[in-house]
Amino acid sequence: MSSSPSTMSAAPASSSLVGAGNTKGTQPKPDSQDISFADDLGNEIVLITIGVAPNQEIFPIHKTLLCSRSTFFDRMFNGGFREASTQSASLPEDNIDAFKVYVTWLYRNIIEVPKKAPIAPVLIRLFAFAEKYCLEELVDNTMDYLVGHLHDKNAIPWLDLMVSSYASTHTKSKLRILMSRINLYVALRYTDAKWEAFNTDTVIPFLIRCPDLTTDMFRLIKGSSGKKAVDPRSFSCEYHQHSSTKPCPYGGKSSVDSRG
Ligand SMILES: [Zn+2]
Repeated sequence: MSSSPSTMSAAPASSSLVGAGNTKGTQPKPDSQDISFADDLGNEIVLITIGVAPNQEIFPIHKTLLCSRSTFFDRMFNGGFREASTQSASLPEDNIDAFKVYVTWLYRNIIEVPKKAPIAPVLIRLFAFAEKYCLEELVDNTMDYLVGHLHDKNAIPWLDLMVSSYASTHTKSKLRILMSRINLYVALRYTDAKWEAFNTDTVIPFLIRCPDLTTDMFRLIKGSSGKKAVDPRSFSCEYHQHSSTKPCPYGGKSSVDSRG
């Protein structure tokens, strides 16, 4: 394959990658044998307010469903906190678009992203949200969806998305692993002349802005001399939350491959 990935030309602040959503087949389906959906929903509703006025939205959500899939929300609404007595909570720092995708995932067990806007920024916010609240299955589903999207569209996240990925995740985050690998892959594979969008003068300021990304890239480079640049945009258990010794809940191979 000799053509450059789909891109974002010289980047406005909001640029990322383009493309409509798809639904990867890695998301586990609910087991209809075990589930009475009405029982799962229960009959209690909690109100969750996302964002800060005037950019604020209130989501009524079935408490039983919410709490059954999240230890964090279970503690919040069934523990000794104020939220348990008011049956409402405010999450001012979280993103409305990402939360909407979360609610859909909660009720339908699939990830559906708005098709009008670029989807990668929403997925990255969703990943950060899921990671923050320890929603492991959503973390994995979001990662698989993102990787599948990048693969299917032959797309590379723009550098501002890589930086925002680092800003919104912890140091061991699998999203950081993906982003640093993609950045290194582009650096090894495309000369400045071959793909102007990611030329050296453009990339360096982002690496200076984000020392963690630079550090992760250097770690990848160390000892990899002579190795072939492997496209990191493929389904891999290395991007999942489970350990390499545990069976993959999504049908992947858990053993760590030799990709450097
Ligand atoms: Zn896995």
